[in-house]
Amino acid sequence: MCGIFGLITKRNDIPVATIIREGLQRLEYRGYDSAGIALVNNGKIELRKEAGRIDDINKNGLFDSMQGTFGVGHTRWATHGAPVAKNSHPHMDGNGKVAVVHNGIIENFQQLRKELSDRGHVFTSDTDSEVFPHLISEFLDQGKDLKEAVMETIKRCEGAYGIVVCHADTPDYMIVARKESPLTIGITPGETTYCASDIPAFLPLTKTAYILEDDEIAVLYAGEVEIFDVLTGKKRERSPTEVPWSIDAAAKVMNGREYKWFMHKELHEVPRTLKEQVNAPLEDIDAFARAIMEADHVYITAAGTSYYASLAGKFQINKFCGTFIEAILCSEFIDQLPTLPHKTCVIAVSQSGETADTIEAIRYAKEKYGATICSLVNVVGSSITRYSDHIIITTAGPEVAVASQKTYCAQVTALTVVALRIAELRCDMDMKEIAKYKEALQKTADIIESILNNEDKIQEIARIFAKEQNIFFLGRGLSLSAACEGALKIKEISYNHAEAYSAGEAKHGPIALVEYGFSVVFVGPPDETYDRLIGNVMEMKSRGGKILAVVADFDTKITELADYTLRVPIENSKYAIAMSAVPFAFPLQLMAYFAADYNEFDPDKPRNLAKSVTVK
Ligand code: GLU
Repeated sequence: MCGIFGLITKRNDIPVATIIREGLQRLEYRGYDSAGIALVNNGKIELRKEAGRIDDINKNGLFDSMQGTFGVGHTRWATHGAPVAKNSHPHMDGNGKVAVVHNGIIENFQQLRKELSDRGHVFTSDTDSEVFPHLISEFLDQGKDLKEAVMETIKRCEGAYGIVVCHADTPDYMIVARKESPLTIGITPGETTYCASDIPAFLPLTKTAYILEDDEIAVLYAGEVEIFDVLTGKKRERSPTEVPWSIDAAAKVMNGREYKWFMHKELHEVPRTLKEQVNAPLEDIDAFARAIMEADHVYITAAGTSYYASLAGKFQINKFCGTFIEAILCSEFIDQLPTLPHKTCVIAVSQSGETADTIEAIRYAKEKYGATICSLVNVVGSSITRYSDHIIITTAGPEVAVASQKTYCAQVTALTVVALRIAELRCDMDMKEIAKYKEALQKTADIIESILNNEDKIQEIARIFAKEQNIFFLGRGLSLSAACEGALKIKEISYNHAEAYSAGEAKHGPIALVEYGFSVVFVGPPDETYDRLIGNVMEMKSRGGKILAVVADFDTKITELADYTLRVPIENSKYAIAMSAVPFAFPLQLMAYFAADYNEFDPDKPRNLAKSVTVK
């Protein structure tokens, strides 16, 4: 779960080290406990690495003052070995000739380390990754060239990797390879080639990209790329693609406004995201809808925010289509489902499309039980899409803040679009009714816009709750999703202890904690759960709970009971109310952001978290 950025160029007038350092900073959301850069210069490799964040490490120009013609850097999220200088990447072989960065986990590293140590290799870190340079160096000593040596090495390594390899005596090229960890290539043809863990990292430099697939290895020359199949060694012809994203994706700027944090900018992108999501290509929606309709059993699987979006999605598919869907955390999928029935469809939801637990779940369902896999991901070409029969790409675009916010909104919307499409295809609902629901879904973008226009009010409320030690988030039915998302966000970025429960469940245990001043947030749209929710508000209020409620603009009853409200400008119609999932979650996402900012935490890079969770 680290960030990798490398470059090789024909130009001698560009600051190679600084470009790598800046590239790494665009990837810091993936890991930020230590960082390093290796540059090749006149037959030698210069290596600098330290614990800490890149800005601090580079304070006195430690990285920027490096000299070299090409090289690679790494910003780490430790899995094997403490986040200290010796464990940070790049790692070198014993001769100081081979430098490697690695994203992922090598599962058989203990055995490989033992074999290599027995043959005299001396390890200087506690990482799994260090086996790479030592193995490569052995194959080089046997007379193989760098590409062959890397190919032989990765055949010996079990697990997940995205690696970049530089050799001091091979000045014309460097090697990249991947399996189950992301790695993309950017190119300015004839001039410079970049490699990075994701596309936005090189977007300010080029929009021309190659997507490397699993079990592929690429030789990166300056301005030229050759891709090979690792298993057969055969060359694969591939044309580069033009990335449609704007370079603003990699900056905290939108429409000329500079935001303090990516998270704030990305929250402001939600209206655009939603408008695009409701107009996503109909063929993709259709294929998804038909796969769900044709299955006898449907599961939806995801982790974290995506799982909470899935709760809203399964509710909508059940409400509009009568299809029962079981939601299962992807990390529990295999353990909870020792067998799967025939004719199963699994919907996998993931921002990165690289979530290791989700990949494991869908591979299990597909390879063992022949399940149909429908995936909803935000990253084109990501690993999950390769195991999927049908794919919907969310329209969130690049998301830099580690804790997903706009992707949650896009996922809920995409699943609602699928629900309405199934209803259309089934023809058992009045088409005019469906059209009204669709229209209401279209309007959610305007509701979010208007919430953003009044975000100062949410900021005030955030200050009131920012220091709370404990907060309950309660909702019923569709709104359980928003309650879960609200609790997760404030926990992730503002470090308040928060728990979400179904409001009806709170009296079966959690209420024991409630005493005078205990904070309880209710998500209270005026839907079929409203009257029962009032009962739950009363239960908390009568025990002294400090109540914050997310309610419709026209709400009166919960407003009378609550100490504070966040008001959502929705129409008083059953169509608008049925589309409350995003509009009622969004104020809580914004509140979490403002609480983190008020508490002076970095909302973009919360501690211990990484955006793309590529470990199981
Ligand atoms: N497993 C490697 C380590 O712990 C790589 C982790 C990463 O992907 O950042 O150093």
